[in-house]
Amino acid sequence: MDNFHLHNNGCEPVTSVFIKLVKEGTGNENIFLNEKLLGFLKGIGRMFYVVNPSETTFSDAKEVPEFFRNKGYSDRLLFRGAESYAYFYVYEHFRLLDLAWNLPITWYLAAIGVDFCYYWVHRACHEVHILWAQHQVHHSSEEFNVAVGLRQSLLQGWCGFVFYLPLAFFIPPALFITHQQFNLLYQVWIHTKTITTLGPLEFIFNTPQHHRVHHGSNIYCLDKNYGGVLIIWDRLFGTFAIEKKDEEIIYGLVFNNPSFNPLHLQVVAREKYDVKLPLWCNIYLLIHFCVVVYGFQKLAGCHMSLNPFTVLGFVIYIIASLTTIGMLFDNRPYACVLELLRCMLLVTANQRINFADTDSPSLLIVEVFFVMSGLFWFLQSIKVLQISLKTKGH
Ligand SMILES: [Zn+2]
Ligand SMILES: [Zn+2]
Repeated sequence: MDNFHLHNNGCEPVTSVFIKLVKEGTGNENIFLNEKLLGFLKGIGRMFYVVNPSETTFSDAKEVPEFFRNKGYSDRLLFRGAESYAYFYVYEHFRLLDLAWNLPITWYLAAIGVDFCYYWVHRACHEVHILWAQHQVHHSSEEFNVAVGLRQSLLQGWCGFVFYLPLAFFIPPALFITHQQFNLLYQVWIHTKTITTLGPLEFIFNTPQHHRVHHGSNIYCLDKNYGGVLIIWDRLFGTFAIEKKDEEIIYGLVFNNPSFNPLHLQVVAREKYDVKLPLWCNIYLLIHFCVVVYGFQKLAGCHMSLNPFTVLGFVIYIIASLTTIGMLFDNRPYACVLELLRCMLLVTANQRINFADTDSPSLLIVEVFFVMSGLFWFLQSIKVLQISLKTKGH
């Protein structure tokens, strides 16, 4: 029970723990603060797979944090449960071995097994066309930073789960789920240009250096370094490439240069897609993006207690918000009309839905902010419509 309590602490989003630490100040509650700090540091450690098995191993799937439990058929088909439902089924009906869930050897087998399967999932995502169609989303950024780690296809889980099924013959589902999450968490921080090399760790682990190669569109980088946590799979199966210090890596997808001129093709550099927006617009979009992220975190925290249709409504609103923000970044002509609708929709929803656990002053601030934003885009929209009417009149 105590272990489970600690686990829940560690699972809190890093930002909310940080906010609580700041709020709680320095004074009297030192023990409580130390516990919080410990939970926070443990959370950071898990990003690097620095994990104590006894605190993160569960006897039963029911002890695994709530978001992974199957509650009904909708969860099995639509949400996170869909990724592991087949795994549970195979384990329950066809398992060949009964490994004790609390033995260290089961833990290590699960860690290595999940990473081995990840290598093949990832390799298939690059080498099988239909799987590449979804995985290319992760590779479409011309930047290389931690945010790229979060840039994943909506269908990633559905396309990958089959590759993990062989593990269901011997690894208990709870351990599989736990390690699949640690494996994914580990892969967030390796998307960075800041860390050049990690010395001897480069031989065993997938590091920022190796993953930079994976994201490069240079010829030597293509279809290389598929590993998740360990790079040994690439070394074993012949897909390993070391970063070349004398060749700058161009991140993103391979560019199909529209030219037949061989000289032009020798010298042309790919132009980076970067729409120049005024500073106020960048600040506006940044603030609204933060509001969307905050809203998503709130939803993630309480979605189990909400009606599934309300959750679906919020999810659609979040996707629509990100799409509109992206269209404003693209400077699309009708993006301001969509942004106006988005702001108005939030104001309407805010007035109709009773957010019981949120304090009203902050809701009022959000509402005023969205009304002001809506007003601004209303004026912009009129301008756009006038321009388009003039063009049609010609
Ligand atoms: Zn990839
Ligand atoms: Zn990546």
